[in-house]
Amino acid sequence: MSAILKIAIQKSGRLSEDSLNLIRESGVDFNKSDNKLTARAFNFPVEFLFLRDDDIPGYVFDGVADIGIVGENVFLEKGKIARVVEQLGFSKCRLSIAVPKSFNYTHCQDLNGLNIATSYPKILGDFLAKENISATIHEISGSVEIAPNIGLAEAICDLVSSGSTLISNGLKEVEIILQSQAVLIAHQGLSSEKSLILEELLFRMSAVRRAKNTKYIMLNAPNKSLDEIVKLLPGVKSPTITPLAETGWSSIQSVVKENEFWDVIGKLKTAGAEGIIVIPIEKIIQ
Ligand code: ATP
Ligand code: ZN
Repeated sequence: MSAILKIAIQKSGRLSEDSLNLIRESGVDFNKSDNKLTARAFNFPVEFLFLRDDDIPGYVFDGVADIGIVGENVFLEKGKIARVVEQLGFSKCRLSIAVPKSFNYTHCQDLNGLNIATSYPKILGDFLAKENISATIHEISGSVEIAPNIGLAEAICDLVSSGSTLISNGLKEVEIILQSQAVLIAHQGLSSEKSLILEELLFRMSAVRRAKNTKYIMLNAPNKSLDEIVKLLPGVKSPTITPLAETGWSSIQSVVKENEFWDVIGKLKTAGAEGIIVIPIEKIIQ
């Protein structure tokens, strides 16, 4: 029987949709029904295990799952050994220490002697040890942000993205102890057959992710501006230039990085570009 790569994905939560989209956009088709814990892809040798995110590092460590997608925060907290294959760029958040707004905080040594509530006792414990801080960790599994208001702790250590939850609970962020994002982790010691399937999947995922950060751009320009415009458009290799029916004009096609996009468009217009068309790219194979 040929090998099947088992992928652990969060069943439902903040990681689920982006994880499934990344796999679908990599050309792997499957049906996910809400009540099923597994699914088999139709056109690629992978099987999915839908789990709570907290269980994913352990399943990958044990080899029940071959690979998994999980937040770095959960991966580090669980302390299970697995290979981090790739950072996936979504579910970005940070693990931070927060104290009541009125707390006169100047330095992490101000945490000495405090009770700190968290769902991340390991990562927090490592931070406190590294900084030589003596504080008491209260492990709670949810709603950490209300701990100071109900008198359970004087500080908290919790995930933050926008910070609005902290503000609405009268807290302020004072230390970032971890920057986190979704990562793909793999069992150490995958068979060579499974490693080959993983390599193919990674190749496809990187094509999808590269395309997400870029746009395809087409524009017209007078030939006298071509040199200047080509310098603004590096492209995958270099821009494609074709003559227009109107003499003295050319059409130029290239790719532009999303984060440089508006800057480049402005410079292109100044250089004489007209009729600029921008198209999303599905995949880029290099
Ligand atoms: P489960 O039921 O699977 O245990 P959960 O409630 O523990 O789910 P979620 O709230 O779905 O977990 O968060 C999953 C992961 O998403 C977190 O561990 C973190 O890596 C990331 N995450 C958390 N909060 C945010 C946020 N506000 N924005 C983006 N990503 C986040
Ligand atoms: Zn969880």
